[in-house]
Amino acid sequence: MKHIDEAKINSLLEIEPEPEEIEKILEKTKRLQRLTLEESAKLLSVKDEILLKKIYEAAAYVKNTIYGKRVVLFVPLYISNICANSCLYCGFAANNKLAVRKRLSIQEIKEQTEILLKRGHKRILMVAGEAPSSHRNIDYYVDAVKAIYAAEYKGNKIKRVNVNAAPMSIEDFEKLKTSGIGTYQIFQETYHEKTYRKLHIAGPKSDPDNRLDAIDNAFAAGIDDVGIGPLLGLYKPDFEILAMLMHIEYLENKYGIGPHTISVPRIEPAPGSDYASRPDYQIMAGDLKKIVAVLRLSVPYTGIIMSTRETAELRDELVNLGVSQISAESKVTPGGYEETDEHNKHMDRQFSLNDQRSLNEIAQSLLAQGFLPSFCAACYRKNRTGETFMDLAKPGEIKHMCDMNALITLKEYLEDFAAPEVKEAGYKLIENYKKNLDEKSLKLLERFFKNIDNGIRDEYV
Ligand code: SAM
Ligand code: SF4
Repeated sequence: MKHIDEAKINSLLEIEPEPEEIEKILEKTKRLQRLTLEESAKLLSVKDEILLKKIYEAAAYVKNTIYGKRVVLFVPLYISNICANSCLYCGFAANNKLAVRKRLSIQEIKEQTEILLKRGHKRILMVAGEAPSSHRNIDYYVDAVKAIYAAEYKGNKIKRVNVNAAPMSIEDFEKLKTSGIGTYQIFQETYHEKTYRKLHIAGPKSDPDNRLDAIDNAFAAGIDDVGIGPLLGLYKPDFEILAMLMHIEYLENKYGIGPHTISVPRIEPAPGSDYASRPDYQIMAGDLKKIVAVLRLSVPYTGIIMSTRETAELRDELVNLGVSQISAESKVTPGGYEETDEHNKHMDRQFSLNDQRSLNEIAQSLLAQGFLPSFCAACYRKNRTGETFMDLAKPGEIKHMCDMNALITLKEYLEDFAAPEVKEAGYKLIENYKKNLDEKSLKLLERFFKNIDNGIRDEYV
């Protein structure tokens, strides 16, 4: 596979570092420095409980220093499950006869968005299967993104639409960019070529290099916030993480920036897929904790996303270790958001989910742990993306601005959507934050807050 030197990764995986070497690497992470592949490999090799605890402490320190207590919330919106590929692990695979195929109309996309707006969502990840070439229609994606941005509920609108979709040509990415997307996200699934070819048996996705090229094409089209990740469970997890870090090194060397976000989804059972219930590699919760912590230390300025594939308890732990964005009340089927639906009744869902709490419950749980639920999208709207974002993020300059924006979006949520007990907990947290603000920032925040009380929405710095 392009850019991935399997022999080098395998030799890195054989290193057995001394405890002193691990301590030395952890010292470096406290200075918020990016780690080399070798250093990351050494951290991944750790099994000793005492050293693991030190890795977790270092990850919590880095998370807190760079991101503070903010956790960004988003919701996926599946617009189509029609797919030309036959990924052996996916419920949308072309050869899955159980799936009821659906491609939402633009009107249905608008209605789904309105339901999400009513629940308080502000950030959407639009997701689609890879339509066969007869259906392929960049204009559909562009219209879908525009419909999501146009939807409105009592003055509330979606602030950022990210997109998870199949690779596109530079020309199609250029069109997609005009719709105003935030991040373009695509998972390589596995960076191990033999495994990739075994699991992607038909359709355009069977070419691993074409999939890798998607990020290059997105950059070439001027989309400079991209999200990547492996699907954990398909091959050795440590190999996947090192290979992804190698992919990131390639992007950094070529374009001067890495991905905006990393996702580390674990494979879940999926209707019609025997493989998904018995994947080749079992990734335990402890493995995922180590992976998140090592990634937080290896690439301190990259966001880490955790979806509702994981349980509430594990997600609560992972936000302490490095996760900076989580999804909420997700449905992984087109048209899945209904006012009255019972979860999991659909056979056309992509895979099973393990955290089914409402947005309100997730916000409450975050607040109870001292985290600041954020719906902010200010950076992307102020063009603080790509290299500009990295330049701001690296010296830690962005933290102060982000706290201010997060507090504004939290107050809007508390006023418009929160249950009384969430509102109370939210205002308590806001009061605590205010105590740490300097006079100038406090004045500015109070001005924004007054505007919210007067019905003004969607202000940011
Ligand atoms: N069809 C596009 C693609 O494959 O890139 C984008 C949408 S696909 C629905 C999004 C992601 O879902 C895939 O990249 C894959 O990692 C993940 N996925 C597929 N089957 C899964 C399963 N059984 N459990 C967890 N995640 C799964
Ligand atoms: Fe299609 Fe994506 Fe599912 Fe593969 S993972 S079958 S490409 S929807």
